[in-house]
Amino acid sequence: MTAPPFDALASGLDPEGSEQAEVRALVRTIVARHATPERIREYDERRAFDHDLYAALAGSGLVALDATEDGTHGGDVRDQVVVIEELAAGPTAMAVCFIVQYMGVQLLTAVGSVRQRAEVLRPLLAGESRIAFAMTEPDGGTDVARVMRTRASRTDAGHWVLNGAKMWISGPLIARHAIVVARTDPPQPSAVDGITLFLVPLDAPGVSVRELDTVAIHGLDTCEVRFDRVRLPDDAVLGERGRGFRQVLATLNRERLGAAAAALGIARGAFECGLRYAREREAFGRPIGAFQVLQHRLVDGAVAIESARGLLTRAAAAEARGERADLLSAMAKLAASEAATRIVDDGMRMMGGSGLSLEYPMQRYFRDARLYTFAPLSNEMLRNYLGERMLGLPRSF
Ligand SMILES: Cc1cc2nc3c(=O)[nH]c(=O)nc-3n(C[C@H](O)[C@H](O)[C@H](O)COP(=O)(O)OP(=O)(O)OC[C@H]3O[C@@H](n4cnc5c(N)ncnc54)[C@H](O)[C@@H]3O)c2cc1C
Repeated sequence: MTAPPFDALASGLDPEGSEQAEVRALVRTIVARHATPERIREYDERRAFDHDLYAALAGSGLVALDATEDGTHGGDVRDQVVVIEELAAGPTAMAVCFIVQYMGVQLLTAVGSVRQRAEVLRPLLAGESRIAFAMTEPDGGTDVARVMRTRASRTDAGHWVLNGAKMWISGPLIARHAIVVARTDPPQPSAVDGITLFLVPLDAPGVSVRELDTVAIHGLDTCEVRFDRVRLPDDAVLGERGRGFRQVLATLNRERLGAAAAALGIARGAFECGLRYAREREAFGRPIGAFQVLQHRLVDGAVAIESARGLLTRAAAAEARGERADLLSAMAKLAASEAATRIVDDGMRMMGGSGLSLEYPMQRYFRDARLYTFAPLSNEMLRNYLGERMLGLPRSF
């Protein structure tokens, strides 16, 4: 009897499998048609964004899941995490792009004005434009509220002037707008107060974008974005003046779920690549998967994936029901990203010289998995958070 592919086992174990099966099948069909392994490799090596794949995904309503605008397709956060997992298991950079789009959709839906929803959200949902989210600064991402130097001031003439710089921003070269987090008022009563969100057209005079050279996520640009006396109208403010960071905090749970799903997808993609190799490659007259040490590592990888999947499924279900999901989401992101980094490391060892070959995707998963050890929030900070909020220990940072 031939062994079932691990993937089949995974979907069989998925407690929410039946409800999300349709969206999973849809993404798989699109990926199989538009993102073959050869094409994924090509776009990674060319450092190019796959516009055709994005058009196919957006054209099937996958950006508009969970959006409440008229004419959208329904679905909720449980579907979104399935989309992200499936993309991350193949064209990983597209999963990163979708995490950002879902964040933009959520913020615009929650606090966008009628005009902002008509001019920015609607084309986003239709797949006609994309958005970037610019929070991290050159002086730091973890403690960003305290070190934020990007400032917007309101002039007597009734408009805003934005100055500053953002670092490591995903996708501004392929986006029409960025949601920019800027200080507008004093940090009182706490550092997260006095911060406002702005919807900034990326072609506005004074905005400059510089692509950064990174080792990972090559299918989506990562950039520095600078703002030099960028003039913005009053209605560029997204949501409430001075409460922008708090508005973002409300969406961070979703971003964390997205990151958990992306890490889970990377873990699964790498695991499947490693398992195939362990079945096919022979040494001492047997498949290398017959050696106990390698078999145990593979089993540990499968258990780590299923543990992370269980947490993610529970977290997404709690979020979809509107229940408290921050602890489960933090645990899911930790479990999935630790699973991914361990699986890619074991995979690279197990594949020997082939691990370094560009013919196999393991090296790409190995590079891409790094992102989710520190983004959107580092695993150290997640442990700090869980120590305080879950265990009731004194704040450690
Ligand atoms: C490819 C890529 C895409 C990205 N996309 C975006 C994007 O679209 N938008 C955006 O705004 N940002 C984006 N980021 C930035 C990302 O969110 C930050 O890199 C992340 O928040 C960490 O910030 P930092 O890199 O400044 O690290 P730092 O904040 O400088 O942290 C450095 C180290 O110190 C540790 N540390 C800091 N404080 C503590 C503490 N109290 N206790 C324990 N350890 C601590 C951290 O865990 C980390 O290990 C992206 C980054 C990359 C590389």
